[in-house]
Amino acid sequence: MENGLHHLQERGVQRVRHEIRQREVEVVRIRPVGANFISITFRGEALHDFVTASFDDHVKFTFNDAAGEVVRRDYTPRHFDRDKRELTIEFVRHGDGKASEWARQAGIGQRAIIAGPRGSMIIPSDYDWHLLAGDSTAFPAIRRRLEELPDTVRAIVVALADDDADRCGFDSKAHVHLHWVSSPDELAAALSAVQVPEGEGFAWCAGEASLMVRLREILRTGKGIAKESMRVAAYWRHGASSYHEQLD
Ligand SMILES: Cc1cc2nc3c(=O)[nH]c(=O)nc-3n(C[C@H](O)[C@H](O)[C@H](O)COP(=O)(O)OP(=O)(O)OC[C@H]3O[C@@H](n4cnc5c(N)ncnc54)[C@H](O)[C@@H]3O)c2cc1C
Repeated sequence: MENGLHHLQERGVQRVRHEIRQREVEVVRIRPVGANFISITFRGEALHDFVTASFDDHVKFTFNDAAGEVVRRDYTPRHFDRDKRELTIEFVRHGDGKASEWARQAGIGQRAIIAGPRGSMIIPSDYDWHLLAGDSTAFPAIRRRLEELPDTVRAIVVALADDDADRCGFDSKAHVHLHWVSSPDELAAALSAVQVPEGEGFAWCAGEASLMVRLREILRTGKGIAKESMRVAAYWRHGASSYHEQLD
């Protein structure tokens, strides 16, 4: 693995560490996605050796707020083009947050720092099935994963978007069964109702912390999925700033 310093084999899942760098970039493109996402593409020569090995990666998006304070938030590298030195991030516009606000006011030429990724968890794409579930903060990772999966596998996606206009961009060569839901309770119910296909697979979930605790329980006890065959991450938590927790 390019830039990889450490490998650990674990039932097919590979963990790779990357040298942590801070890279200065500037905004070169801004585009709305659905009703509540802003896709921002950053360019910088410093990205020449940027590595993102997995849809599960995150970078520390770093900027100064209006008061000049340094703010750092976790974001998924949605797309990276090494030749063009361009990295795209999809920001959810939510009510009250400094990163969300930064994305809302971003303009061409504005500068920011991209730090990391510190490491990657590489989940093989040739499992027989892939179960992907989450709220809108997980959509950039799910969209990237769906783009990367081959046409030989099945993907079951359970996605929470209360605004119909956000139900877009889940394109894939894989055989995808897509379930849209409108609330956390519906997401939990839809995940419970999923019939896990035959063969070997992997479950990946991300989103709000209390919802992820529920989903992990459904996967573990409801479906008997082994710890090694799932990744559940809290990407944010109601009432908390910059919250990140790996639940499994
Ligand atoms: C590994 C990882 C990858 C992530 N990838 C992405 C990504 O690609 N795109 C993306 O948009 N987000 C992503 N997130 C989530 C993002 O980091 C958080 O939503 C973050 O809190 C946003 O920062 P903020 O400054 O806007 O709000 P904060 O200052 O962190 O929070 C302010 C308030 O807003 C609330 N809040 C935070 N996020 C949301 C939300 N999404 N909806 C409603 N309320 C919220 C908090 O509970 C808090 O009360 C990721 C998180 C992790 C850990």
